[in-house]
Amino acid sequence: RGWSFTDKATYDWSSEEEEPDGSARPIQVLVVKDDHTFELDEAALSRILLAEEVQDREVVAISVAGAFRKGKSFLMDFMLRYMYSQASEEWLGEAEEPLTGFSWRGGSERETTGIQIWSEVFLVDKPDGRKVAVLLMDTQGTFDSQSTLRDSATVFALSTMISSMQVYNISQNVQEDDLQHLQLFTEYGRLAMEETFLKPFQSMIFLVRDWSFPYEFGYGQEGGMKFLEKRLKISENQHEELQNVRKHIHSCFTNISCFLMPHPGLKVATNPNFDGRLKEIDREFINNLQILVPWLLSPKNLDVKEINGSNITCRGLLEYFKAYIKIYQG
Ligand code: GDP
Ligand code: MG
Repeated sequence: RGWSFTDKATYDWSSEEEEPDGSARPIQVLVVKDDHTFELDEAALSRILLAEEVQDREVVAISVAGAFRKGKSFLMDFMLRYMYSQASEEWLGEAEEPLTGFSWRGGSERETTGIQIWSEVFLVDKPDGRKVAVLLMDTQGTFDSQSTLRDSATVFALSTMISSMQVYNISQNVQEDDLQHLQLFTEYGRLAMEETFLKPFQSMIFLVRDWSFPYEFGYGQEGGMKFLEKRLKISENQHEELQNVRKHIHSCFTNISCFLMPHPGLKVATNPNFDGRLKEIDREFINNLQILVPWLLSPKNLDVKEINGSNITCRGLLEYFKAYIKIYQG
């Protein structure tokens, strides 16, 4: 597939960006350790972002963030299918094909808090003729206690700072504490960045999983926008705190949108032997997946990462990543 790296002497060829069979895989680039310190695998990140074909390309960085066990990695794997079969209408795959890529699984056991990046950066031709590099990021947070909330906030902040689109994956509804978390996380991010008159972040997508009130707001993006408008509305008679959360969120992002996803069905949610095959996923979920994924990733919808108004390349993103992590390491 023509992976080539800029400096053979510096980068360790024996290391782990590919499986022995040459296929790409998720790379853990950031880990939050048990003592709440952060570790960035700079070498691995460099190998991905400084690969010769991509290093000088403008980068589109897509991140999915939110609490554990809410179907983020599962969704990411469908995003990978789409990226790997750009040209095809049949990107969704075969009915009985197991879903692979970022690891996803049932159970309630904790996993690492941090950021994983897909080792292959995709080159995509936009309709305007530009060729851009697309990076997919899967992030994990716990959100379950005060100490881990701080870790999650940092992971969320970092992933928001380095992405051009943050998908905030939440379960069932947009609750007041989801908004409060978002305020905390973006405040963490904003404090670490240079002050400018521009909004600090680009696109924020609230992705609501297992939406169960389609008779009030329909599945998809249109229902999502109406629902979110209502949830983010600022009114005079609201408590000041509620108003502030909403003002803060509006002030942070250039674009805010929302998509309401149906429940995928009991096999997906509860069967330990489920391997991701389409055959066992509810039709309604698949129909909406076929709208959601191209809406997020079709070439015309890919926005290049901007920082302080300038377009960023993969090489530039690596530098920002390193600089931002230093701030949190204190
Ligand atoms: P992550 O920790 O957020 O990355 O979650 P995973 O992608 O690993 O999925 C956790 C579990 O949720 C798996 O058993 C999936 O089969 C299941 N799952 C995936 N998508 C959904 C969804 O939209 N709703 C529900 N209820 N379960 C899902
Ligand atoms: Mg996951």
